[in-house]
Amino acid sequence: MTATATATATPETAPAALEVHDVHKWYGTHRVLDGIDLTVRPGEVTAILGPSGSGKSTLLRVINHLEKPEIGYVSVGGELIGVKRNGGRLKELSERTILTQRSRIGFVFQNFNLFPHLTVLDNVAAAPVATGRLNKPEARELARELLTRVGLGDRTGAYPRQLSGGQQQRVAIARALALRPGIILFDEPTSALDPELVGEVLSVIKDLATSGTTLVIVTHEIGFAREVADRVVFIDGGRIVEQGPPSQVLDKPRHERTRDFLSKVL
Ligand code: ADP
Ligand code: MG
Repeated sequence: MTATATATATPETAPAALEVHDVHKWYGTHRVLDGIDLTVRPGEVTAILGPSGSGKSTLLRVINHLEKPEIGYVSVGGELIGVKRNGGRLKELSERTILTQRSRIGFVFQNFNLFPHLTVLDNVAAAPVATGRLNKPEARELARELLTRVGLGDRTGAYPRQLSGGQQQRVAIARALALRPGIILFDEPTSALDPELVGEVLSVIKDLATSGTTLVIVTHEIGFAREVADRVVFIDGGRIVEQGPPSQVLDKPRHERTRDFLSKVL
């Protein structure tokens, strides 16, 4: 455990920030997730590693309801995602409830996905207004605060195309924070960036980790995972091969497949 995790540790009895239970997902006959179980405690930082095509993005998309698993379920903050219990059965939720649930989960994509026609300020202010949580002046004030937090307080009037990739990704992080999510998922947040811009984005994510935000980060940045993650999860072929503290999974991996993967990315 890092100092971060100790400072923000919560009792074992608190609901898990995230629970993935026996999730299976197929695309046609191709099995992409093959029985994923994962629990993330509040304040914990989890790094997910694995080769290309191993199912990492699909797992994040299932957690965020962008995909529906054929078997299994997900809960966030103790609340079932996409389904509810109806006796022993799981019943699907309405599209409206799904949208509400999704707004409690922040998602940061590899390619930023900012709205090109909106200023940086409005990119961040849009969701709290659209979901009716804040009025426009309140949302803009919050957006200013969050943009300052990610080091872009002086670029609020710019459009995404006027920013570097690293700046755009920092806007995307501020946008994810604007809905005050219980958990933020990152899908390879630095892999689309030029190498010299990676550090500024990792440093913002590290800040969130230190302040006790619950994070799940798919990344190939092994050094970053070692420094920031409480737990590293290695996925291959849609299964969790091994998981544990970085000192174990990264430095003394138990499985040949983990060793093989690490030897290629390190
Ligand atoms: P990773 O993020 O680990 O690289 P993905 O979750 O993106 O892996 O993909 C896992 C597998 O599922 C890959 O073989 C990919 O080709 C396949 N896949 C992903 N999305 C779809 C889709 N929408 N339709 C069909 N196959 C898909
Ligand atoms: Mg991926």
